[in-house]
Amino acid sequence: MSDIIVLMGPQGAGKGTQSGMLAEKLSLPIIATGDILREVARADTDLGHLVRDTQAAGRLVSDEILAEIVSRRIGQGDCAQGCILDGFPRTLPQAQLLDSIAAARGDRIIVIDIDVPRDLLMKRLAGRRICPACGTLYNIYFKPPAKQGVCDLDGHELVPRSDDTEEAIEKRLSQYDEKTRPLLDYYRKRGSLFTVDGRGLPEQISANIAGFIERLAAPYGAI
Ligand code: AMP
Repeated sequence: MSDIIVLMGPQGAGKGTQSGMLAEKLSLPIIATGDILREVARADTDLGHLVRDTQAAGRLVSDEILAEIVSRRIGQGDCAQGCILDGFPRTLPQAQLLDSIAAARGDRIIVIDIDVPRDLLMKRLAGRRICPACGTLYNIYFKPPAKQGVCDLDGHELVPRSDDTEEAIEKRLSQYDEKTRPLLDYYRKRGSLFTVDGRGLPEQISANIAGFIERLAAPYGAI
């Protein structure tokens, strides 16, 4: 039996940071559906155009496309010992699909909800900048580069992510409330949900998450 660890929380909650830290601690691969879809969106195909337009508007890509992407990715060899999901599931049909994948593999689903207040989320998202060359992430409020507007590592000009317009951010947060937040109850009812305060230092949040997962793994059901 392996663990499928799901990181939930609205955009800006720190799922990317926490999945990276957890992946290192547990030596598990990360499946970040937003990254996979951004890769798909780069292709000059009908699917690529559809995904690009959907992402740019801050809407959700269809469950069918997600089902195809996630089933294929989890089936790869590096996920045999489990994996960390960042950004999936985001809808009830996606959660049901994940249930059936986990049941077929005999895997356990552990859901971590990263809880962050709305005003902090807005600052994190609207302040986000990325280096288009090396992908390093910055934030103009919390993690500015040494020289304003350029990457510390290679001097390229930093840009917002194409879907980080204020309108798209609002759209994504309201989609989260409407379609994704109800999943928390879905998992809470089964007792597989752990809510962590996402406001502190990344290392502290990571330690809290890792502590929870360790307690789950402990003999005699220590939690
Ligand atoms: P993220 O990088 O996780 O913030 O995702 C960026 C965008 O990719 C989202 O705003 C959606 O357009 C799309 N996306 C990522 N994951 C999903 C998902 N599980 N279901 C639907 N759309 C998704």
